[in-house]
Amino acid sequence: MTFMKRIVLVGAGHAHLEVIRRGAEFTRAGVEFVVVSPGDFWYSGLATGVLAGLYPVELDRVDVGSLTRNVGGRFISAAIERVIPENREIVLADRSTLAYDFVSLNIGGSVPVEKIQGDPNDPRRFAVKPISRIWNLHKYIRELLCDSTIERPIDIVVAGGGATGVEIAASIAALVDRTLEARVTAESLGFGGRIDRTLNRRVSLKLLAATPRILIDAPARAAESIERTLLKRDIEIITNTYADRIEGDRVLTRDGRSFRFDVLVEANGLRVSDPIIRSNLPYDDSGLIVDETLRSIADPLVFAAGDCASPRGTKLVKAGVYAVRQASILAFNLLASVEGREPRRFHPRKKILLILNLGDGTGLATWGPFWFQGRAAFRLKDRIDRKFLDQYKSH
Ligand SMILES: Cc1cc2nc3c(=O)[nH]c(=O)nc-3n(C[C@H](O)[C@H](O)[C@H](O)COP(=O)(O)OP(=O)(O)OC[C@H]3O[C@@H](n4cnc5c(N)ncnc54)[C@H](O)[C@@H]3O)c2cc1C
Repeated sequence: MTFMKRIVLVGAGHAHLEVIRRGAEFTRAGVEFVVVSPGDFWYSGLATGVLAGLYPVELDRVDVGSLTRNVGGRFISAAIERVIPENREIVLADRSTLAYDFVSLNIGGSVPVEKIQGDPNDPRRFAVKPISRIWNLHKYIRELLCDSTIERPIDIVVAGGGATGVEIAASIAALVDRTLEARVTAESLGFGGRIDRTLNRRVSLKLLAATPRILIDAPARAAESIERTLLKRDIEIITNTYADRIEGDRVLTRDGRSFRFDVLVEANGLRVSDPIIRSNLPYDDSGLIVDETLRSIADPLVFAAGDCASPRGTKLVKAGVYAVRQASILAFNLLASVEGREPRRFHPRKKILLILNLGDGTGLATWGPFWFQGRAAFRLKDRIDRKFLDQYKSH
């Protein structure tokens, strides 16, 4: 088949999943449709549930290669280094290049691991992105918990007191409870039903927040309520402290404190990812600057959506919700560009529903100043997240 134009989608993010689902519309229009991403789509919405042991890992992944091929597209399993807009090509990690007529970036952000000095490849360090790392974290903690040669408590430090850090800490607490309960049950079968509750002392879990309180963007009362919940679950919260560097088995903070660790989870924010920085297109500290039609303000052939995009004149929190909202506009505008039609505009909502999974069957839902905590919040999140993924799993 001869194609008139080539669209390259870089990154299997939330917005691109929807564009890929509608890929047949592109091939019908004579467009070659190429997706470049290092692997599957991993869904952050269910990732902490996987960490907590609530969901099987398979639930959290979408096979983007199959999804792409099913709609007649081509999938290249690779990361990109950068876009060269003046040549209309992208450079892949192996230095090969791929030409495009239109390119769309949905590559998310990066955890600023350089903010905590020390060996970035230290196996005890777990950045929360890419999301696949959260599955590795689950396995690592389970192995430590099941290692009967470790006699002292296992020290887990979560750096970051925002929504992600709180969700991760709560989910680790739930994982510890589930793993130890399973062990206790197994052991108790062999010892006449005696349950040794002292096993619960095997873990010390600390949450470090650089801010005066956790969940600084949430309503104050909601944050206080979550703080009480975490304390009840034996999570120690240390505020106004900034993890700075690793020395031996300790993580040192800027205010001179130090905490022993076996596992350090880095949930200390996001930065603009390297391909955006290298691409010689305007960006700010939030991402590639795009106009209301999701095109780079300097080059109408380059689109961006989700965490890697910075819609001009806005300051959006980094949330998958925005990438999902941008998805249908991005799909429409990519096709409209090929066919020479008027593009649609993205107008972000000021308030979005955010729900944290607290790992134990409860959650915290916030919408602007409104919030509620409990089982209903978790059930709502579970329903929304499964529905979102179902669209792409059953395609
Ligand atoms: C633990 C955790 C829980 C979260 N929970 C929620 C939640 O419940 N609700 C919510 O709204 N937000 C949540 N977030 C935030 C959410 O994950 C992000 O806002 C969202 O993932 C952004 O989506 P995206 O589509 O922009 O990019 P991503 O989902 O990050 O996808 C980026 C894709 O690009 C690929 N990629 C990266 N680099 C390259 C490259 N160089 N070349 C090619 N491909 C590349 C990646 O492999 C990935 O497939 C959570 C974040 C974390 C860490």
